[in-house]
Amino acid sequence: MTNLRIGTGYDVHQLKNNLPFLLGGVEVAHNKGVVAHSDGDIVLHAISDALLGAGGLRDIGYYFPDTDEKNKDLSSVKILEESLNLLKQKDLQPRNIDFVVVCEQPKIQPHVEDLKKSLSKILNIDASFVGVKATTAEGMGIIGEGNGIAVFAIASLENIQ
Ligand code: ZN
Repeated sequence: MTNLRIGTGYDVHQLKNNLPFLLGGVEVAHNKGVVAHSDGDIVLHAISDALLGAGGLRDIGYYFPDTDEKNKDLSSVKILEESLNLLKQKDLQPRNIDFVVVCEQPKIQPHVEDLKKSLSKILNIDASFVGVKATTAEGMGIIGEGNGIAVFAIASLENIQ
């Protein structure tokens, strides 16, 4: 394939009691939620970075700095859509994505189909081009204690023309 473009993204957040827990545009029921300046959708953050990276662009911290008050409680769907717009200006669009969620709780498996559906809609790609995986930190560190969550993502792009 010519013009093959691949990028990676990584994000980590703290989990604290009684906060919303959004994952890939899906609201997940859990006694803890994500501590963040935006709405804390860690999956969308890691995917946005992977897509921007594949496009040779900067990261979401550069385009949506958390020091900017206008980004407070910013919808992560908006962050991803803005990232897609930046790619579109370069005639690029997502081809496929894949990511791994690392946390002890909640269990991700029951949400895999919802996640695939949600991301396929936001990215305008077929659900068969969305890979969703999950693992735990085997009880090690802050993620292992159930007080953190991390996501590793990879994405590829194709030319629109
Ligand atoms: Zn984040």
